[in-house]
Amino acid sequence: MKQIWKQTWRQRLAAALIQLLMVLAMAGVGIRMPVQAAEKNAVTQSGEMKVHFLDVGQGLSILAQSEGKTMIYDGGDRKTSRFVVSYLKEHGVSKIDYLISSHYDADHMTGLIGCLNAFDVKNVISSNYVHTSKLYQSFVKAVKADGLKMQHPAVGKTYKFGRGSFEILAPKTIEAKGSNNNSVAIKLMNGENSFVFTGDAEHESEAAMCNSGIDLSCDVLVPGHHGSATATSWDFLQKTVPEYAVISCGTNNKYGHPDKDTMDKLQSMDIQVYRTDKQGTIVVTSDGTNLNWSAEPCNDYTPGDDSDQGTQSTSEVQQEASKTATGEHVWVSATGNKYHKTNHCGNMNPNTAKEETREEAEAQGLEPCKKCY
Ligand SMILES: [Zn+2]
Ligand SMILES: [Zn+2]
Repeated sequence: MKQIWKQTWRQRLAAALIQLLMVLAMAGVGIRMPVQAAEKNAVTQSGEMKVHFLDVGQGLSILAQSEGKTMIYDGGDRKTSRFVVSYLKEHGVSKIDYLISSHYDADHMTGLIGCLNAFDVKNVISSNYVHTSKLYQSFVKAVKADGLKMQHPAVGKTYKFGRGSFEILAPKTIEAKGSNNNSVAIKLMNGENSFVFTGDAEHESEAAMCNSGIDLSCDVLVPGHHGSATATSWDFLQKTVPEYAVISCGTNNKYGHPDKDTMDKLQSMDIQVYRTDKQGTIVVTSDGTNLNWSAEPCNDYTPGDDSDQGTQSTSEVQQEASKTATGEHVWVSATGNKYHKTNHCGNMNPNTAKEETREEAEAQGLEPCKKCY
């Protein structure tokens, strides 16, 4: 009898232990699940910055994430407003540290109203003009409802953002009746990687950016105004010298974006091209040195409108492109025998560096720095 009782007691203990283990295992699973989900959506490793060029059809919307910080630069048009909000949620966004409205045209601003309603927004940066549209009133209302004020920072103002930073490039001046040229443009930086976003800024604002003295050179340029010929001047390309261009426009859009002139310029300068109308949403991760893209560039240089003949002859384009190549600006240190792509490549003192053309540097017998070239 005693033995039987013992066995039963042991069995009970074993059963209890198994139950306890199961409870623990379930609790463990319960705890692990959200962590796994968070890891899946997560955002960035230490030192990383992720930039998402959302496919919002004819419009613009860019999400940037770095070390728990979130920025949204424009939010696309009405049709894609819900997509933008759900895309951000899927990518672990609950608060937005910087919500930047380049300008108040519907194809850039509408989705931002959705974001103001859906997320905890900390800062709103926008352009210092008033639009007559009802939509603008809705935007103002949504900003107020969140207890926020629109900030209109001056050119040159720099903000810390996660591991990196961003600097305001435009607008230098506000056009009374303008909209596109009033776009807030920024340079987003993470270590040696940088991105330039100009909203719908056109030649006039691009010229002001070129004259600002700010280093515009970047790895990735989003050509202004969806690749329209009113933006992406030769001078601006010469200053930005991007390796990649990401064009945000809608398939078969009624404006014929991107324009043949813009695409000819990009092609002649061997700038690799991504397009949201051909490739959908595109994501790039910067580790501070290298860029890791979600897809290969499409390098499709065809204009949005096939009947677009362009305004420049092939020889004109080639001439300008070669001017751009030789007119490329480089940095030269006070001492040393190298020239550099940036004045902060790490192999020189940025305070004593001076800028000159590559041609001039080569004429002095200087050689390209191995680290930045
Ligand atoms: Zn616009
Ligand atoms: Zn636009």
